Amino acid sequence: MGASFLVADDEPGIRDILKWELESLGHEVVLVCDGSAAVARVQKSEFDVVISDVRMPGLGGIDVLKATKEVAPDTEVIIVTGFADLDAAVECVRGGAFDLVQKPFDVNGLLSIISRALEHRHLRATHVLYETSQAILANQEPQRLPQLVVDMAMKVMVADDVSLMIPDASNRLHVAYSNGLSSSVRAEVQIPLGERVAGRVAVDRKPVLIPNGLDSDSTFHDVPSYRRVRSSIVYPLVAGDRLVGVLNINRTVNLRPFRQQDLERAATVASQALLALENGRLIGQMVASERLASVGQLAAGVAHEINNPVTYVLANHDYLGEKVDTLLRMGALIDQGADITMLRENWERAGGQTFLADFRQVLGEAEDGATRIRDIVRDLRALGRRNDDKHVPVDLNEAVRSALRIAGAELRSRSNVVTRLGDGVQVIGSAGCLSQVFINLLVNASQAVGSQSGGKRDIVVTTGREGDRVIASVSDTGPGILPENLPRIFEAFFTTKDPTAGTGLGLWISHEIIRNHGGEMHVGSPPGGGATFTVVLPTPGGSLATLAGR
Ligand code: ADP
Repeated sequence: MGASFLVADDEPGIRDILKWELESLGHEVVLVCDGSAAVARVQKSEFDVVISDVRMPGLGGIDVLKATKEVAPDTEVIIVTGFADLDAAVECVRGGAFDLVQKPFDVNGLLSIISRALEHRHLRATHVLYETSQAILANQEPQRLPQLVVDMAMKVMVADDVSLMIPDASNRLHVAYSNGLSSSVRAEVQIPLGERVAGRVAVDRKPVLIPNGLDSDSTFHDVPSYRRVRSSIVYPLVAGDRLVGVLNINRTVNLRPFRQQDLERAATVASQALLALENGRLIGQMVASERLASVGQLAAGVAHEINNPVTYVLANHDYLGEKVDTLLRMGALIDQGADITMLRENWERAGGQTFLADFRQVLGEAEDGATRIRDIVRDLRALGRRNDDKHVPVDLNEAVRSALRIAGAELRSRSNVVTRLGDGVQVIGSAGCLSQVFINLLVNASQAVGSQSGGKRDIVVTTGREGDRVIASVSDTGPGILPENLPRIFEAFFTTKDPTAGTGLGLWISHEIIRNHGGEMHVGSPPGGGATFTVVLPTPGGSLATLAGR
């Protein structure tokens, strides 16, 4: 596709020759004969390159350069001068001109400067796209993705109003992020598929360019406009045949309308956005399946943890049944009017005071067993919940205990676990996610100590509070971590285990969970062996001061 040029020169001969040469190369050319007209044009429309004479009646080339760079910093400006003027040259360089060409110029020489200017502009756009997409791909927090996509579209498309809409299960588009709308307005916007521009684009799955607002658009003039949008590109994000979202890219303040060429750039933005959103979705699925997989791996142990109390709850239930039968028999004796001596004999035979003490004890044990079953079921539910991102007050010790309950059987089979749980370890977070962190750390530690033939098999879990931080650690006496592996330990898919034993996601997910809680996770492994994982979380209302030097 050709580029667009603005040529400002008061000499008709120069204007004509440039128009002829550029149009014969397939470019669009707008001609003006003075500086004021040039400034008015750059404020209204977007050009790839502006070629301006330095001296014209009224405003000169330097003014055109300044005005252009103010509204369109990426537009390349070539200044043509009829005389060698050092001051003008300095001003051109300072103002960001691409080149200064002296008259009389050789047309081929000027054309080669123009083609370099176009290349430069293209590279600049590619660079912005590269940088913004790098930021998106480096992002580790899926919930920030919509905002990063919007930021990228704003920068690359030089737009001032961008929103990303995502469909829900009932075929309505919701605003995932918008730079222009407050979060309360965002929450209210719902567009059924097929309605308004975004809804229609979502159904047709073809991008649209609305250069001059809805009123003047032949396809969308029937859509009422709620606010002044001067120019828009609405792009569907589609993966296979699945609609992932719709990107609304608008200019509301910027007077220069989007052009056909901008659709190409929008296509690149849309494909980057799609890639990022799809990655985010896959990561979400991976996290959920890893969480369920960890429950699956521990299933046998969990069944054991439940079966133990079930066994003694049932045994205690039988025992209590027998005791109740004894009481029923004594009740019958009372009803038959038995005398006190006979009743006392029966009472002593049943065990007397010991009978009642046993009764109480067995009742207490049954309650204890039922509570253990209830707790472990609660732990499992918290762990299996897919969107457990509610942040509520959590006692970190509870998260540790929950992890110990779930991983208990697995741990006891290979290691001795010692817990030293301190006080005041409240944090704000998700109980399920935090317990998943400790399950991962404990299972890793137990696998580490179990992997060696001899030696100690100790795992020590500690929690405590230090000022406005809550610190927890899981240490083991396993073989430790090789120094070359330490920097990679929190990478996704990094594993030294057999593929059937390790996915390499446990520590990565744990690290992510802790980061999402505003905390940090560290690892240490001294030369003699053993590894210590430390989790540092802020106390409620606090945030971690930098932990440099830890
Ligand atoms: P996976 O356990 O599936 O390999 P993780 O992300 O949990 O994935 O752990 C990544 C790697 O970190 C492990 O393969 C192992 O090499 C190392 N690692 C984790 N915890 C310990 C530990 N306590 N002692 C020694 N190495 C460990």
